[in-house]
Amino acid sequence: MSLPTAVWIAVVLSGCRVEKRPASEMWTPMGTYATVSVPADERSKLSVCAGVAKSTFAELEKILTVYDPNSEVSRLNTAAGQSPIAVSGHTRRMLELSKHYGELSGGAFDVTVSPLIQLWGFSGGQAPDKPYPREIVAEALRKTGYRHLVVSETTAFLDSPGMSVDLGGIAKGYAVDVCFEQLLRMKVPNVMVNLGGNLRCNGVARQGRPWNIGVQNPFLDDEIVGTINLTGGRAVATSGNYERFVVIEGKRYAHIIDPRSGYPVEGMAGVTVVSEKAIEADALSTALYVVGVDNAADILAGAPASHALLIPDERPIRILVSTGFRRFFHPAPDYAANVADLPPSTRPVD
Ligand code: AMP
Ligand code: MG
Repeated sequence: MSLPTAVWIAVVLSGCRVEKRPASEMWTPMGTYATVSVPADERSKLSVCAGVAKSTFAELEKILTVYDPNSEVSRLNTAAGQSPIAVSGHTRRMLELSKHYGELSGGAFDVTVSPLIQLWGFSGGQAPDKPYPREIVAEALRKTGYRHLVVSETTAFLDSPGMSVDLGGIAKGYAVDVCFEQLLRMKVPNVMVNLGGNLRCNGVARQGRPWNIGVQNPFLDDEIVGTINLTGGRAVATSGNYERFVVIEGKRYAHIIDPRSGYPVEGMAGVTVVSEKAIEADALSTALYVVGVDNAADILAGAPASHALLIPDERPIRILVSTGFRRFFHPAPDYAANVADLPPSTRPVD
């Protein structure tokens, strides 16, 4: 995440009277920001809750990091086209769910998009001076495809040489769920867990007040377009073009790749998804960012627990919401007139 997302959560919460502001702890695991918050008058629970989050995120970071050649993800990538490797339950679940969201999104979410991420200069690669010609992109595209990721009870295997996985679009949501579910087992009544803008909340921020999350205006650092009331243990995630991007010939390309074309996605500025689980909100915010306004409802039709808000990269700002999203969303007065319904699904009814 981005600091801006952290800042916005803080700003919205500070709408409560100052002495009632939730107590929060912030740190920087997994190359991003994390916060855990509890109501002010339950601040004695904060260090235990933050402790659970810190150990969960540290355990998952060890599995996921590409900076350690012995992490499970590094070994899976190194063994591509050679042999399956033994994986832990966490890795197996993340990979299985990644394949599930690959199917659900018609390939818009693809955990094997890593060769393209590298090609375009995200994640440590070098951005090109001008957009690549089709042949270069086609060569990297041949090394992708989530159906080439084979997951069994105890092993995982990329069946072609040169392939690699990048769990950046789903791992933070998964980590939030693991932590949140542990806190539920510990019967923590009121808590918010946030990892890189992937949040899940339980209970209230203070007596009678649900957790309130600001949705950032992707065009203005210091404005929100509205707030989301998160109740019922729900999660929210945002994918945006304003945090991580490369500039090629003066044009901004977001760190999300369209796995069907191999090119970075253009035309979207921000997508926010509310769901029952953080992993679904995380995967679908990335997938909806790829398919854009016209096809978002087709994906949401297959995910009845998820609701979305999309902001295309155009002015004046348009804020398109699915029907279910309206239940949680309170537009800021200045933006209320810019909110409209997402176009309906075009998927034929069986
Ligand atoms: P998010 O911020 O959750 O939308 O995730 C973006 C990250 O997901 C990127 O930084 C990449 O690591 C990864 N990613 C990019 N494009 C895709 C895609 N089409 N499917 C799955 N993961 C992606
Ligand atoms: Mg995501």
